[in-house]
Amino acid sequence: MIKLERDRYGNDGSVVRARTTHYCEGYRCNQRAINAGEFYYRAVAFPGSEVVEKGNPPWVMKLCRDCLNDPMLERFDAAVASLLPSVTRDNGTVYTPRTIRAVLIGPEDDAPEAVMVLGTHDVDRARTVAAEEARRYWLEMGDNDYPRLGDHKTTWMRRDIVSFDSIDGPYYNFTLDREHGAAAIEFTIRWEIDAPSDPAETPLEGIES
Ligand SMILES: [Zn+2]
Repeated sequence: MIKLERDRYGNDGSVVRARTTHYCEGYRCNQRAINAGEFYYRAVAFPGSEVVEKGNPPWVMKLCRDCLNDPMLERFDAAVASLLPSVTRDNGTVYTPRTIRAVLIGPEDDAPEAVMVLGTHDVDRARTVAAEEARRYWLEMGDNDYPRLGDHKTTWMRRDIVSFDSIDGPYYNFTLDREHGAAAIEFTIRWEIDAPSDPAETPLEGIES
């Protein structure tokens, strides 16, 4: 979380990375989901006002990036950029991520074979995000076989939506694009029989092979 300067109305605000799904409270968005890992703006209204001094909690509002006005957007992006390092492409252009996110890859009706992490070339950071995503899938499916991360490959990827399923959401197609793509790291998934005995407490390990 990064605290920003007070806005011109005297409200406090900070840039926060969502740990779970939140919903934008901006009137333009009508409750669009802010997914885990995405950044949002948390405004705390009237910090010094009578309302708060009387013991009432301050009024807090969560806003997605799309709901910010230009001056606030500039400060928001600068704060996010300071948290998520830029990566320079081979052609010299600079890629600045807005978020780091993981997408499972594989046949539509079968277990995923890989995880694509977009937004970073930091392997350790990407591995954590990839492991969380594989684990989320595993918990959701209730499989016995357990996903462990294998080899990784650092790359540049463009992401296109190829189809949309009302339950599973979008299916993506990734294309190698060194000129305009996002910094990405792809991890293979190995499905192993030895699932942890206590799924809730066993962290998913990434194992180099
Ligand atoms: Zn919004």
